Amino acid sequence: MSTFQAPKGTYDLIPPRSATFLAVRDAISTPLRNSGYGYIETPGFENVELFSRGVGESTDIVTKEMYTLTTKGNDHLALRPEGTASVLRAALQANLHKQGNLPVKLWYSGSYYRYERAQAGRYRHFSQVGAEAIGAEDPALDAELIILADQAYRSLGLRNFRILLNSLGDKECRPVYREALQGFLRGLDLDEETLRRAEINPLRVLDDKRESVQKQLVGAPLLGDYLCDACKAYHEEVRALVTAAGVEFEDDGKLVRGLDYYTRTTFEFVHGGLGSQSAVGGGGRYDGLSEMIGGPALPSVGWALGVDRTVLALEAEGIELDLPAVTSVFAVAIGEEARRILFGKVTELRREGVSADFSFGGKGLKGAMKDANRSGARYRRWYWLGLNAGTLFGVGFCTWLMYQSLYEINSLCLWC
Ligand code: ATP
Ligand code: MG
Repeated sequence: MSTFQAPKGTYDLIPPRSATFLAVRDAISTPLRNSGYGYIETPGFENVELFSRGVGESTDIVTKEMYTLTTKGNDHLALRPEGTASVLRAALQANLHKQGNLPVKLWYSGSYYRYERAQAGRYRHFSQVGAEAIGAEDPALDAELIILADQAYRSLGLRNFRILLNSLGDKECRPVYREALQGFLRGLDLDEETLRRAEINPLRVLDDKRESVQKQLVGAPLLGDYLCDACKAYHEEVRALVTAAGVEFEDDGKLVRGLDYYTRTTFEFVHGGLGSQSAVGGGGRYDGLSEMIGGPALPSVGWALGVDRTVLALEAEGIELDLPAVTSVFAVAIGEEARRILFGKVTELRREGVSADFSFGGKGLKGAMKDANRSGARYRRWYWLGLNAGTLFGVGFCTWLMYQSLYEINSLCLWC
């Protein structure tokens, strides 16, 4: 029988690449943790209606990409395809918005599931780190999030990315634009499904990635020309604050997002080295979502950055993160007595906070030294060579010299 493979559209995170993943999660969350965002964790699945109502009945995520299941107890659940609806649900359930401290600022990190056409950079199981600022309408909050995402990417050394910014208007001005866009779309040569989409949610046609569609959208009316005064002023303030922070962005009048809940500010981070899966993160304001899922009016803004694609972006830019050495000390013992003592020494070191490892499995010296070399790979290494007290010291010393040249050992502590 052949061995099992990871399901289609998924992959396993294994060392050493998995260390880069952890570092990316950490780099994205650090600016958030330093800016008053508290950590939140929600279940990997929710009642399916949370997403159909929250994300939107006509979105690809809900109609095509959701993993749904019915439990033995007849609960209709969905594996979470995104984080915002869950985080807002949890904040409402815990009454965080009633504790007088708005906005409630939260960050999260986890796995998300979408039944997508699997390809490089597009998976059925992927990771995001996200942030939500719930319950305040303040352009500084939108600006803060854009600036923090930029800071996160830059702290990783990424340079080949762009920030696209747009405003989707609000319930005042968007309906007028919607109609104008619909009128335009009806005159195009579109397939049945896209025409249907134009009737239900015309803005999403702007997000169609196919060139045949994009070509026809060249003269489409732009939301920017339809924004009401309040939305225009809000957007100008976001732009001014982001600009003042020295963060460059591009106005993209056609930027819409694949989820229905966005209003006003929307933005996307795109990377130049990822081919067609170029979005490394995105977000925006979602002033209506709370009411859509049964809560009070809570204007909010947030983003989610894709960890998988950020790692691919690092690889595309040839960036190797300066990760801390996994193991500072690697202990190799020769002889049973030395082994026992050395194992105790390793335990002591670990208790003192020194990362230490030990050659397991009763290997010979050569194999053990190979382990030692593997343990520290790219970093400064310290090895302990335990010799059985008094015996074979001369041989041990020669072996040490031999292995030092053979395996380019940086430093070696003899311990008897
Ligand atoms: P795309 O347009 O590429 O489908 P999206 O608009 O669906 O992206 P969001 O829902 O905004 O993406 O999710 C935020 C980020 O999560 C994306 O920018 C991307 O980095 C990542 N992401 C989304 N879907 C996937 C996926 N299937 N595989 C890997 N990463 C993903
Ligand atoms: Mg998508």
